[in-house]
Amino acid sequence: MLTELDSQVVGPVMSAVDPRLAGEVAGFDATIAHTPDVVVGAATAADVVAAVRWAHAHGMPVAVQGTGHGTRAPVASGLLITTWRLDQVRVDRVAGTATIGAGARWADVIDAAAPLGLVPIAATDPSVGVVGYLLGGGLGPFARSHGFSSDHVERCTVVTGTGDLVEAGPAGDAELLWALRGGKHGLGVVTDLRLRLARVPALYGGYLAFAEEHVPAVVRGWLAWTRQAPPEVTTNLTIVHRGEERAIRSHPDARKLALLLVTYPGGAAEGERAVAPLRALAPTLADTLAPMPLTDLAEMHGESMDPGPTWVRGTMLREADDALAEAWLAHVGPGASHPFGGVQLRHVAGATEVDVPEGSAVAGRGARYTALLVGQDPASFDAMPDVAETILRSLDPWRMPEVNPNFAGVAAGVWAPDVARRLAAVRRRVDPHGLFAPRG
Ligand SMILES: Cc1cc2nc3c(=O)[nH]c(=O)nc-3n(C[C@H](O)[C@H](O)[C@H](O)COP(=O)(O)OP(=O)(O)OC[C@H]3O[C@@H](n4cnc5c(N)ncnc54)[C@H](O)[C@@H]3O)c2cc1C
Repeated sequence: MLTELDSQVVGPVMSAVDPRLAGEVAGFDATIAHTPDVVVGAATAADVVAAVRWAHAHGMPVAVQGTGHGTRAPVASGLLITTWRLDQVRVDRVAGTATIGAGARWADVIDAAAPLGLVPIAATDPSVGVVGYLLGGGLGPFARSHGFSSDHVERCTVVTGTGDLVEAGPAGDAELLWALRGGKHGLGVVTDLRLRLARVPALYGGYLAFAEEHVPAVVRGWLAWTRQAPPEVTTNLTIVHRGEERAIRSHPDARKLALLLVTYPGGAAEGERAVAPLRALAPTLADTLAPMPLTDLAEMHGESMDPGPTWVRGTMLREADDALAEAWLAHVGPGASHPFGGVQLRHVAGATEVDVPEGSAVAGRGARYTALLVGQDPASFDAMPDVAETILRSLDPWRMPEVNPNFAGVAAGVWAPDVARRLAAVRRRVDPHGLFAPRG
C-alpha cells in the first residue's frame, strides 16, 4: 500500500514500524510520541498533494507538523505530514517581502531578512514555526507597533482536503486567505506563504529583571505605565519561578523574579526616553535594554524556551486596571503558591486592534492584554487545570469570550460567533471530507 505512495513523493514515507519514524516526528515536546499509521516527510509541495490524495483515497485523517511547538496531544492514527524540510526563505528586498516555506522557523526569516534591513513581524521566541504561528494570528514583540503577525500575510499556497494546490489571496481564493489569517485549523496544508516585511529605522530592546521583593511594585507600576505607554513600545511581564529561566540562575537568592521584556522599533534616544519609567520601577538585577542591530532581533530577549513537556493555558483581556494587578498578585505574586514556572501578562493594545482592510479571522483582536500560565514540570501537570481555572476565573471581570488559539493551550481557540460560522463554512468548502479535523 505504501509502495504506491512512495513512488509519488520525493521525501521519505514511513510506516508505523519504521525505525526512522520517532526521529522524524519528534517536536518541541519530545515526551509526546506520535504513532500515526503513516508519515510523509514532505520535501516539495507536490509531496503534500500526493500525501493528501492518498490519505483521502484510503480514508485516513491528516495531521501536519512543522516544529511541534503547538502539539498538545499525540497523533495516534492516520497520516502525519512533516514539513520541516520545506524551510526555504526567499527575500525580495525591493518588494519588502519574504516567501517562506512551511517548515521555516522565525529565526530562518530573521537571518534572511535582517541583513537586508528588513524584519519580519515575528514571534518573541525565534524557534517557533512561521506557519503554525501565523495560522493563529501571532502576537509577538512588535504587536503594538505592527499588529497581529498574520496581518502581514499577503498570500498562501495551500493543498486543500481534495488534494488541490490553490492560491489563497487577492489573485485566488480571497475567502480562504481571510480564514488562514487566524482561523488556525481545518483549512488545508500551507506549503508556502508570502509575508510583507517591515522596514524599521532601528531597534531598541532587551529585558529588565527584578528581584522577588519588588514584584508587587513592578506589576502595579508596569500596568499603570502601559495605560499611557508610547504606542510603538511592546512589553510583557513574566513572573518566573527559580530554575525556570536562565536569567534567574545567576541570582540564587530569588525564589521568584519579574522579567520585563521590551521592544521598540526605533532609535536609541527615543528608546531610552520610553523605558526610563520602567527602569525607575524598582532596582534591577539585570538590565539588557540597549540599541541593537536588526540582525540581533532573534537574541533580543534572551534564549529560546527550553524544549520539553509544556502545559499552557491563556486568555485575552479587554483591559487591565489596578484591580486586575491586585487579583494577579494575589494568585501569582510573592507568597502565592502555584505549579506554573512562568506567568505572563502581555500588553498588546495598539495596531492589533485594527483589522486588515479586507478583514481576517483572528480571535481576540479587541484584546488589550493577554494572560498566560506556562508549566514545564510534568509532576505538576495533573494539578494545573484546576489551579489555572481558579487563576483565570479571578480575571473574569476583564476576560474576553474570544480566546486566540495560540494562547488557548488547547487545539482550538474561541472565535466570535459570526467569525466561527464563517470559518466553519470555509472549512466545509476546502475540506469537504473532514480530513483535517483538529486534534488534542
Ligand atoms: C516556546 C513557545 C513560544 C511561543 N510564543 C508565541 C508568541 O510569542 N506568540 C504567539 O502568538 N504564539 C506563541 N506560541 C504559540 C505558537 O504560535 C503555536 O503553538 C503555534 O501553533 C506553533 O506553530 P509551529 O508550526 O511551530 O508548531 P506545530 O506544532 O508544528 O504546528 C501547530 C499546528 O499548526 C498547524 N500547522 C502547522 N504547520 C501547518 C501547515 N503547513 N499547514 C497547515 N497547518 C499547519 C497544525 O494545526 C499544527 O497542529 C509559542 C509557543 C511556544 C511553544
